[in-house]
Amino acid sequence: MSRIALFPGSFDPITIGHVDVIIRSLDLFDKIIIGVGHNTSKNYMFPLQDRMQWIKDSFADFHQVEVQSYSGLTVEFCKKAHARFILRGLRTSADFEFERAIAQMNHYMERGIETVFILSSPQYAPVSSTIVRDIIRNGGNAGPFVADGVRLK
Ligand code: ADP
Repeated sequence: MSRIALFPGSFDPITIGHVDVIIRSLDLFDKIIIGVGHNTSKNYMFPLQDRMQWIKDSFADFHQVEVQSYSGLTVEFCKKAHARFILRGLRTSADFEFERAIAQMNHYMERGIETVFILSSPQYAPVSSTIVRDIIRNGGNAGPFVADGVRLK
């Protein structure tokens, strides 16, 4: 059975922190599906199409990495995609507390799906999509913090 992981998130936009987690996880899995959330109740800065295209462009050379959009429960999408693992990154203890609750609830719902955490590389720990969006909104240069494929005007 192949080891498929889902890396779910908003990726609004994808950052160098996300890229680091994905690249460091490649040895663990046969395939990593980057699941780009689209939730009608969330206000994204960038449209789903851009968020997905930027990820595709960033990972064009990685045959193990796939990009798909999804809405609804992450565990339901995992079942559809035959993913037995959920991949998440941890930057801080605040991330840990947030992620712990989600992972434990997901495990209550689906015993066969395990969440795997990768600790952020120290140099990427302060990087977040939220801060990147603030930099963009305020006219700063967010280029150094986003993935290669991201095209900001
Ligand atoms: P969400 O909308 O679910 O918060 P994000 O796109 O912000 O999604 O993040 C997706 C995942 O990537 C989360 O597990 C988050 O903790 C992780 N992540 C985000 N930034 C970094 C980073 N700089 N280093 C490591 N992990 C990160």
